[in-house]
Amino acid sequence: MTDALTLHSPTKLLDALCTCIEKDIHPLSEAAVAAGSKLFGAAILLKSDLSVVYADTNQERGSPLWHGETWTLKQFFEIPVDKRPDVKNCLFLTTHEPCSLCLSAILWSGFDNFIYMYTYEETHNVFECHGDLDIFNDVFNVREGEVARQASLDGLVSQVRPQYKLRSSRLVALSFAELLAAIVDKEERSTYADKVEGLKRSYGRLSEAYRRNMSSKENTII
Ligand SMILES: [Zn+2]
Repeated sequence: MTDALTLHSPTKLLDALCTCIEKDIHPLSEAAVAAGSKLFGAAILLKSDLSVVYADTNQERGSPLWHGETWTLKQFFEIPVDKRPDVKNCLFLTTHEPCSLCLSAILWSGFDNFIYMYTYEETHNVFECHGDLDIFNDVFNVREGEVARQASLDGLVSQVRPQYKLRSSRLVALSFAELLAAIVDKEERSTYADKVEGLKRSYGRLSEAYRRNMSSKENTII
């Protein structure tokens, strides 16, 4: 397994990932939300040059199983085998930290990584989509509110225990926040933070239609 950060600088990764969300995923999400689906999207990129192999978006209007990630995986595996890159040579990009269904689907498909822009907490609090955290808390053996104490230079700080192992022999999960934090130059970090915020604002603009869709589906999601 190779960590994306060992292959590319955080700025090169953020450039490619932000461009992919802006140019490839967001237009699809915009159309899907207008047609009644939710706004989560995903893409598969080559680790080597960060080119986009396939990008798609949530298709829950067709089936509750077609989250952005699961639909993207389904479509990716419909590419003829002789034209489809090995998943071990690919990065999995997702706009939102993958739910338990999608996290498992990514791993069962053979990927050893994913990179996400919005955290579970943002999905829960900003988009008011509570299923991701609720399923972890209610079904899996994750105890809500459990905190782990972590030493820091300022003393002890409390952090909520992650819902899954962020680094293991099977998986490296990276957030955009971690990529931003890995940029050493302060000014450059600030420029890229603005870039990510701009992208998030474009998703914020989809949220009104998204909320309408979500409330009409509230009986079908947890
Ligand atoms: Zn999902």
